[in-house]
Amino acid sequence: MRLFSKIARTGIVTEALPDQPENPITLARQIDERARALLGRAVAIREVDAGSCNGCEVEIAGLPGPVYDMERFGLHFVASPRHADLLLVTGPVTRNMAVPLRKTYEATPDPKLVVAVGDCARTCGVFAGSYAVAGPVDTIVPVDVYVDGCPPSPADILRGILTALGRLDPSREGR
Ligand code: SF4
Repeated sequence: MRLFSKIARTGIVTEALPDQPENPITLARQIDERARALLGRAVAIREVDAGSCNGCEVEIAGLPGPVYDMERFGLHFVASPRHADLLLVTGPVTRNMAVPLRKTYEATPDPKLVVAVGDCARTCGVFAGSYAVAGPVDTIVPVDVYVDGCPPSPADILRGILTALGRLDPSREGR
């Protein structure tokens, strides 16, 4: 009882969301609604760091953190690609990660979506030309949506996930 009364006394202590043109909470609600309509459940995400500097991971880690708390909208990160609907891939793909990324993609059940997060995922960014880099993400696996930025904000990443889910919409042509 002491614990419950302390929780009630403390209230919500997380920071207020920054003023942004597109509220991340609104985006997360849209993702939740779209995932339930298209998949019949929440969306499961597998994150693959293919060689990033971890700046993109800091922004991705913000999604389930105390400011955004995205798990309340059903977005959850899974440990295995076999349980995932969508891959979030960051970084240029290093030579060491090319095969693991390809295998992760192959292990993800259809219809699988790939969101390439950050400038490095699209163009190799500051790592372009390095002997250790195999290439941008789309040279290893098909990409549905690119999220630009170095790093992109959590709202940008959410917008990318929402756009990728839109590709599953059967009313879209060519699907
Ligand atoms: S886009 Fe920027 S933050 Fe993301 S992996 Fe590349 S250098 Fe790092």
